[in-house]
Amino acid sequence: MDKLAILGGQQIFKKSFKLYNSIGPEEQAAVAKVMKSGNLSAFLGTWSKGFLGGAYVQEHEAAWKAMFGVNHAVSMNSATSCLYSAIGAIGVGPGDEVIVSPFTMTASATAILAFNAIPVFVDIDPLSFNLSPDLIEKSITTRTKAIIVPNIFGLPADYTKIMAIARHHGLKVIEDNAQAILATYGDKYAGTIGDIGVFSLNYHKHIHTGEGGVCLTDNDELAERLQLIRNHAEAVVGDKGTKNLINMIGFNFRMGELEAAIGIAQLQKVKSVIDKKRDEAAQLSKVLKTLPHILIPDIPKSCTHSFYIYPILYKSKSVSRETILSALEKEGVPVAGGYVEPLYLQPLYQNLTGYGDKGCPFKCPHYSGTLNYTPGLCPTAEHMHARELFFIPLCMYDFTKDQISMIGKAFVKVFNQYKELEGNV
Ligand SMILES: *Cc1c(COP(=O)(O)O)cnc(C)c1O
Repeated sequence: MDKLAILGGQQIFKKSFKLYNSIGPEEQAAVAKVMKSGNLSAFLGTWSKGFLGGAYVQEHEAAWKAMFGVNHAVSMNSATSCLYSAIGAIGVGPGDEVIVSPFTMTASATAILAFNAIPVFVDIDPLSFNLSPDLIEKSITTRTKAIIVPNIFGLPADYTKIMAIARHHGLKVIEDNAQAILATYGDKYAGTIGDIGVFSLNYHKHIHTGEGGVCLTDNDELAERLQLIRNHAEAVVGDKGTKNLINMIGFNFRMGELEAAIGIAQLQKVKSVIDKKRDEAAQLSKVLKTLPHILIPDIPKSCTHSFYIYPILYKSKSVSRETILSALEKEGVPVAGGYVEPLYLQPLYQNLTGYGDKGCPFKCPHYSGTLNYTPGLCPTAEHMHARELFFIPLCMYDFTKDQISMIGKAFVKVFNQYKELEGNV
C-alpha cells in the first residue's frame, strides 16, 4: 500500500476538478433571442394582462407543468421567495406554528418568520437526514398550521407517514425540493406530493438560471395566492375581486424574461444532468460500500435520489472525522464535513431578535406556545453536524468516470490504512 499523503506519501490526485457548468450554447441562444426582443420583463403589478408576466415566463412555467404533470407552476426570483410565498399562500400568520427540519438551508425556516409565525424544529432521521416522521406528531399543537419538509441532499422524505400525519391533523405540507429535482417517491416526483413543492434555480443547484425558483401545486386557489404574493397582491386584489385577503401583502418576487428563457433550456437538460449524478453516485457506492467505518446513502426501495451531494456517515470513534477528512483531502478528494449547523443554533433563534427590537415575532402577544430553541433540542441533527456526516459535493464539479474511480481509490487507500491514522485523533 502506498503511504498516505497526510503522512507524507504521494497524493492520488494532482489536478483540481472542473467546476460543474450546465450553461452552454442553448442558453446563450435563448438569451440572445430575448435580448433582441428588448423585452426583459412584461410583468405588471396590476390586474391586467401583464399580471402573469411575459411570454418566456409563461412558456417556462408551462414547461414545468408538463414535465412534472401538475396543474400550476409559479416561477419566482429564488426558491427563498417561493418558500416565503408558499407560507403566505397557505394562510400562516402571527401565533401559528410551522414544523420544520433544522438540518436544511436557512430559508426553509425564515419563510415561517416572514409571516410572523413560529418555527418548531423537529429532529431528523439518522439515515436519511430528513425530518423524522415519528417525531412530528409529538410537536403538533392546536397552533400548528403546516409542515415544511426539505428533501435534503436529493432524497425524498418519508411522505407516506408525513402526508398521513398532515391530513389527520389538517396541516398543509410544503416540500422544500431545492436539492431534489427529479427525485422520485413511489410513482411521484418529489415536489409534487405535498400541497406546494418548491424548486431552486440558483447557481449552485442541478439546473439554474443564476437566481430563480419555481413553486408547483395542483391547487387552483394556492396557485392564485402564490401569483398574488409574487406580484404586489394588495394592488391587485381589489380589481381582481379576491375575497380572501389574508396575507395579501405582496412582494416583487417576479422572474425576468432572460431567466425564464434560460430556464426553458435548462429544463431540457435536467434529465441528463440527474442521470450523470446518479451514475457517479452508483460508481462511488460500489467501492465505498465495501469499506469499514463508513455507511453510504441508504435509499429506500420506493425512492430515487438526485444526489445534490453524496452523503457519507462516519461511524468510528478511534479517529476523528476531521482527521479522516484531512486524510482524504490530502489525497485530493473533495469532501466537507457536517453540512449546516442546526438552524435553531443561529443567533436569530438564540437571541430571539427578529423584526425590530421587541423580539417579534417570537414574543408576539398572539403566540401562546412555549418557544424551544435550546441547544440539544435535535440531538440527531447536532450529532450529524458535529460528528458523523461528511459528503462529496457532487453537484459542484463535472467529474469524469476516471476521476470518480480515483476518488474511490483514495477512499480505499485511506480506509485500508485506518490504523495508521489512529495515533492522530
Ligand atoms: C438552495 C436552497 C434553498 C434556497 O434556494 P435559493 O433559490 O437560493 O433561494 C432553499 N432550500 C434548500 C434546501 C436549498 O438547498
